[in-house]
Amino acid sequence: MSTKDYVEKDYYKALGVAKTAKPAEIKAAYRKLARKYHPDANKGDSSAEERFKEISEAYSVLSDEKRRKEYDEARSLFGGGFRVPTGQRTGQQGGFGGFDFGDIFGGSGDNSGLGDILGGVFNRGRGTAQNRPRRGTDVETETTLTFGDAIDGTTVALRLTGEGPCPTCHGTGAKAGTVPRMCPSCQGTGQSSRNLGSFGMSEVCKECHGRGLVVDDPCPACTGSGRAMSSRTIQARIPAGVADGQRIKLAGKGAPGERGGPAGDLYVRVHVKPHPVFGRSAANLTVTVPVTFAELTLGAEVKVPSHRGAPVTIRIPPGTPNRRTFTVRGKGVRRKDGTTGNMLVTVEVMVPKDLNSKARSAIEELREATAGQDPREDLLERAKEA
Ligand SMILES: [Zn+2]
Ligand SMILES: [Zn+2]
Repeated sequence: MSTKDYVEKDYYKALGVAKTAKPAEIKAAYRKLARKYHPDANKGDSSAEERFKEISEAYSVLSDEKRRKEYDEARSLFGGGFRVPTGQRTGQQGGFGGFDFGDIFGGSGDNSGLGDILGGVFNRGRGTAQNRPRRGTDVETETTLTFGDAIDGTTVALRLTGEGPCPTCHGTGAKAGTVPRMCPSCQGTGQSSRNLGSFGMSEVCKECHGRGLVVDDPCPACTGSGRAMSSRTIQARIPAGVADGQRIKLAGKGAPGERGGPAGDLYVRVHVKPHPVFGRSAANLTVTVPVTFAELTLGAEVKVPSHRGAPVTIRIPPGTPNRRTFTVRGKGVRRKDGTTGNMLVTVEVMVPKDLNSKARSAIEELREATAGQDPREDLLERAKEA
């Protein structure tokens, strides 16, 4: 229980008693209400469970003379019904709706003061925030596509794994036929208090880990946690033209929201398997075509494969340098705007390892015939330039 709870919650109202009520009246009111809203009598009714927790929390404070006094003090100091403006918490230490605890408790400049401690408690955002609709978390996954599917676009089945309520016990954590009971240690609040002077510091209850409920016969499937990993498979449309390493956002395909909140987004990291022949450079396809020295020197027409189409013939003019790149228009990857990239064909001389005797003597003849041409003629001279 925190001071914020003290300030926000009206325990007298929760039990339907007057502020001046005697301990016996408080006890009688609690018994009556606890019987009515006990989880055993209201199976599966979460509003009854909430009400039960509220009653138990109120009783745990008002039935204890010392805590009741602290509660009354806190309420009179900050005014009953003062509410933390939820959604406006700025994380500002000590700030509380424009109300500075530092001023009350001794001081600006005193950073170890109670103002900071309380600020920490208030800014934790417990309480009402738990009941608000929550957007589902974003989920990341990856998929590997073939080269062709990355170019054309495809639909892939993605298996998403996430934590959700245990399907065996429907999230209660209790074995079939049993129900969790209120945590006796924290009276169902999920929080235990540590006293600092007349103010309580709240901590998550160690007994129930903040659930407010304990389970005597744990569900064997989730060992009482009520949570389980589950997986679902979704069909995701991968647009045409994705590149290796690209991250695609699929809005609303992440984890489902809670209490009516929107779903999160799904991010898919795409890996593209290399193709044995083709490469990609943005919307262009690349291909390296082996040619002979004679083809580059004398010129030739060579047949070049295209991706998902008939081979195309490119004309190599005589005297083409090794590794020259030719552009074949429109044989690349289709872009979003409907235009298509090109295929970039790079010619590369293959030097034969083995030669038959006829070829060998022809090459030897070539060497003799070109003996006067030295391709490295001025190389050593040019290398000396600064
Ligand atoms: Zn507890
Ligand atoms: Zn379970």
